Amino acid sequence: MATYTISRERTMAKCISCRKEVDDQLEECPHCGASMTEPIVQEKPHCGTPSTGSK
Ligand SMILES: [Zn+2]
Repeated sequence: MATYTISRERTMAKCISCRKEVDDQLEECPHCGASMTEPIVQEKPHCGTPSTGSK
């Protein structure tokens, strides 16, 4: 039996858009041009509306 030892040194990431394997180091997918980096989640500013006992 031949044992194939696949040594994956490269980190392949999957494009979330086209689902193709894309080099993890790339920031954009070379196939569809989608951004490989996770979308930056902007923190929502806290609603500065203190409910001051308005009953
Ligand atoms: Zn893609």
